[in-house]
Amino acid sequence: MVVANQKGGVGKTTSTVNLAASLALHGARVLVIDLDPQGNASTALGIDHHSEVPSIYDVLVESRPLSEVVQPVPDIEGLFCAPATIDLAGAEIELVSLVARESRLQRAIQAYEQPLDYILIDCPPSLGLLTVNAMVAGAEVLIPIQCEYYALEGLGQLLRNVDLVRGHLNPDLHVSTILLTMYDGRTRLASQVADEVRSHFSREVLRTSIPRSVRISEAPSYGQTVLTYDPGSSGSLSYLEAAREIALRGVGVRYDPQHAHTGSQNSQQSMSEGTQ
Ligand code: ATP
Ligand code: MG
Repeated sequence: MVVANQKGGVGKTTSTVNLAASLALHGARVLVIDLDPQGNASTALGIDHHSEVPSIYDVLVESRPLSEVVQPVPDIEGLFCAPATIDLAGAEIELVSLVARESRLQRAIQAYEQPLDYILIDCPPSLGLLTVNAMVAGAEVLIPIQCEYYALEGLGQLLRNVDLVRGHLNPDLHVSTILLTMYDGRTRLASQVADEVRSHFSREVLRTSIPRSVRISEAPSYGQTVLTYDPGSSGSLSYLEAAREIALRGVGVRYDPQHAHTGSQNSQQSMSEGTQ
């Protein structure tokens, strides 16, 4: 699943790490690929990513096997991360002259032999070669949209890029999921934006939106996801709920919010069913 939006600061990284942690806590094996030179997803998962660490840069530019850079995430069983270092900032240019420059990540993932239920790729805020590599490698796109005034600006360009990649490089790629983030129900603007997005993308938008929450924004400074930092917080519960929707969609089961939070055994079962 490619988590993409060229608009900066809309919740790509936050959604990637917290959805991945939610899926892993329910028993799935999940790999987060950090494809942003900022390395925010690596930080949030408590993974070292100074410039000496073997990273996704080595995979893309030096053809190093993905298995040599993947690290287990501390505290969450079944969750793994391929970190990004600052080297990746140069990759956008270095890739230009390499053979099969758009499909290097796809090849690396195909050669990766560890069993996985989900791979989530955190993209940088641009539509350059790194994001194209993610879109060629991925099966579906998840677009986080921040509920504010400029939310829909740039979305057309993003959708056109998905179409281009589908037309030329990855015929199966589609936008499967839109997640509304930093939702503040007290403001009329947030609900107007949410309504507008839902009216345009009624099938793709998850019923669960992610509230604006201080706990969510604090968690990365402890190298944690909100799921481990404050498991009972509204932010944590909403990411769990969103992950459950994604898992159930994977097997074509209609999500029913009335039956959400019915006990961990049920959710564990449905999550792992969703991954098969
Ligand atoms: P970039 O484009 O730079 O990669 P991004 O799209 O990955 O940004 P994030 O880094 O996930 O966005 O989020 C941007 C900022 O908003 C971060 O400081 C993050 O902690 C904060 N944030 C994200 N989601 C929430 C939320 N639901 N409530 C409060 N703060 C949030
Ligand atoms: Mg980010």
